[in-house]
Amino acid sequence: MTIDSTQALLRQAIEYGCEYLAGLDARPVFPDAQALAALDDFDEALPSQPTPPTDVLRQLHRLGSPATTANAGGRYFGYVNGGALPAALAGRVLADCWDQNAALQLMSPVAAKLEAICERWLVDLLRLPEESAVGMVSGTSVASLCGLLAGRNALLTRAGWDVKQQGLFGAPALRVVMSRGAHATIRKALAVLGIGAAQIELVPADEQGRMNAKTLPLLDERTLLIVQAGNVNSGAFDPFTPLCEAARRAGAWVHVDGAFGLWARACSARQGLTEGVDLADSWSVDAHKTLNSPYDCGLIICKDRRALAVALQANDAYIHFGGGRDGMLYTPDMSRRARSIELWAALKSLGRAGVDALVTQLCQRAQQFADELGARGFRILNDVVFNQTLVACETPELTTRTLENVQTSGECWCSGTNWRGEPAIRVSVCSWMTTVDDVRRSVAAFAAAREAAS
Ligand SMILES: *Cc1c(COP(=O)(O)O)cnc(C)c1O
Repeated sequence: MTIDSTQALLRQAIEYGCEYLAGLDARPVFPDAQALAALDDFDEALPSQPTPPTDVLRQLHRLGSPATTANAGGRYFGYVNGGALPAALAGRVLADCWDQNAALQLMSPVAAKLEAICERWLVDLLRLPEESAVGMVSGTSVASLCGLLAGRNALLTRAGWDVKQQGLFGAPALRVVMSRGAHATIRKALAVLGIGAAQIELVPADEQGRMNAKTLPLLDERTLLIVQAGNVNSGAFDPFTPLCEAARRAGAWVHVDGAFGLWARACSARQGLTEGVDLADSWSVDAHKTLNSPYDCGLIICKDRRALAVALQANDAYIHFGGGRDGMLYTPDMSRRARSIELWAALKSLGRAGVDALVTQLCQRAQQFADELGARGFRILNDVVFNQTLVACETPELTTRTLENVQTSGECWCSGTNWRGEPAIRVSVCSWMTTVDDVRRSVAAFAAAREAAS
């Protein structure tokens, strides 16, 4: 391989990528049976000999591109999967050419500089305590793990127990208080941190999935309180002010799972939803959801910079910490892709007003779904406060069959859930690409899907 042939290959990759993006609107949102069956062509024994890179790329495009979900288009509403802003996507392509390792400033001065800038911008945009540290991780799962780790260690330190020195066995018991509506990744993070289900005190949630502050147990200085900005189904927000104030009085640590919802804080029309959330100690949020930065980019934000860095620090004679920002102080990883590059590009391209407009637009499209589906006789199960709309038909059976038909329609794609004892269709508007027309077209697909299921 020479630099010339590398360039030709890259140009080809960009061409395939552009062809792919141009075809998004005309192709099925979920791959059809033929595209899925063709994936079997990947099944071969490990090649004993090299394959020319152009052939590798051609095969990837031929088999891979048709077997993607059209997540990058405007009619994918599954899970809470964001799209990719043009500047962020292009920034990422350039960053991939740079192939930087963001562990240390000495490994990548540019990645370190952009991490420091993103940290400052994010804390400003989300109106969180100025001194907060931001770590760039793969997603909210890892971000929550880091926030809860910092909290666990800080609470134990205050109890006179150095967990890094003395370990967890024999440590003073901690309590965890969280909502029944907490996300599955929170339970996973707690399990990784040595906190079992038996130690979790569950607070009832109301009909929207919000923690009921009135039924909060008495907190103390050994408690991790976990709250949520954006329920994964309903989009509902916990009442942060009473919860955080109770935690402050007790000396508890508050972690906020704000995977997609914390962005409400940067939206003039929705910021009321997050009032009081700045009183917490740590926050996890995804850039790859609401902000539409490409995968994978999650953020752990921790008010106590030292608590986060002490919990995650690794030392060895060969690791040279510099005077500037060393990203590995704030993440579990050492070697790591320089996520700050596309994150910076996303924030720079949007600016404060652009983020505000993006979040507003996602919420408006979710409301459009609710209005137009409601007008066609679908039941809307939640108060549409953010970007999530929960939909059902007259009977549970009809809901389930309608969802199956939506998923195979190729027109749009949604995932399902069980909401308060009945099946529901989740519509999550999370892409900058989704237009008023995309919603209209998707609503028509819902109606046709129900018609075919009746
Ligand atoms: C998506 C999501 C998570 C998990 O985030 P990942 O980025 O997939 O790791 C956690 N909590 C909530 C509320 C989410 O929506």
